[in-house]
Amino acid sequence: MDISPLFPNGFIVCSQEVTPETVSIGLLATSTVGTCPVCQTPTSRTHSFYQRKLADLSMSGKQVKLLVRLRKFFCFLASCPRKVFAQTCHLVFKPYARRFLRADQQIQAIGLQAGAKPGARLCRIVGQPISASTVLRTIRKTPVPVV
Ligand SMILES: [Zn+2]
Repeated sequence: MDISPLFPNGFIVCSQEVTPETVSIGLLATSTVGTCPVCQTPTSRTHSFYQRKLADLSMSGKQVKLLVRLRKFFCFLASCPRKVFAQTCHLVFKPYARRFLRADQQIQAIGLQAGAKPGARLCRIVGQPISASTVLRTIRKTPVPVV
């Protein structure tokens, strides 16, 4: 079964494994071009690959763990201090994030409605086992609505 449509454009599913508690899915970012975060120069010369472990929305009550394979690129601009940089996918997950943005949005919605401790219990029920502190940190990242 092809589950690629469940994920944002720019990723292909490489592997999938279902255990009684989790669904592990290997993803590969398909973009072969990166833009240096320092000098904004686009490049397609791959230095190496690296892997991020991220959580996603639960599937059939099971935790979803993603292993996302991304590229590192060379920056060839001689005056740029950055020689190698990592591929980013800001629309799907932020740098250093532990979850896809859509999973964070679910935690924010639950936390804003229920509060920290009840929100953490609800998140555990929907397949995202996190602490009350994580619910609070996620709520604090919520943008304040402009009045
Ligand atoms: Zn650069």
